[in-house]
Amino acid sequence: MPNLSAPRAALFLDRDGTLILDKHYLSDPAGVELIPGVAPALARARALGFLVFIHTNQSGIGRGYYTLDDVHRCNDRMDELLLAAEPRLARPLFDGICIAPESVDQPSRYRKPSPAYLQEMIALHRLDPARCWMVGDRESDIQTGLAAGVRSAAVCTGKLDTAGWAALGLPAVPVFADFPAFVGTLGST
Ligand SMILES: [Mg+2]
Repeated sequence: MPNLSAPRAALFLDRDGTLILDKHYLSDPAGVELIPGVAPALARARALGFLVFIHTNQSGIGRGYYTLDDVHRCNDRMDELLLAAEPRLARPLFDGICIAPESVDQPSRYRKPSPAYLQEMIALHRLDPARCWMVGDRESDIQTGLAAGVRSAAVCTGKLDTAGWAALGLPAVPVFADFPAFVGTLGST
């Protein structure tokens, strides 16, 4: 029986290259493709007691390539695919979603590597940073987690492969083949 008054554990997940294939400025829901094994991995994380958040940079909005509505429609499609793939999952699939819409050169509060979203969720949900993870396929994901004081894990389903991560030389950041491999190492919260 979990102690509901204790600070909780959470996963902060990048979207493109971590949960779905990175199509580079994805705007069409028909282009959403789950990375294999992600749906059962999310169900396992839920069963272990983790809250689950998405934190995604979508500079394509700031660049004028697509709209916030397009991102919402792609997220809805991702939810449909996850629910269809894994009967243990139910809505809401995520406890929060942060979409940072700014271009690289625009002022931003939430664009990764800003830790602002993680810091706000840690306070709002009484999360224990020592039992939280940021997971992503880019260095900015890792920097976000480290800046927020949570553990960070790298995956090789997006921008960087194992050699790419090794070349960055990030200390104490475990590298996994994919999100399911990461979840496979988690214990009960
Ligand atoms: Mg990514």
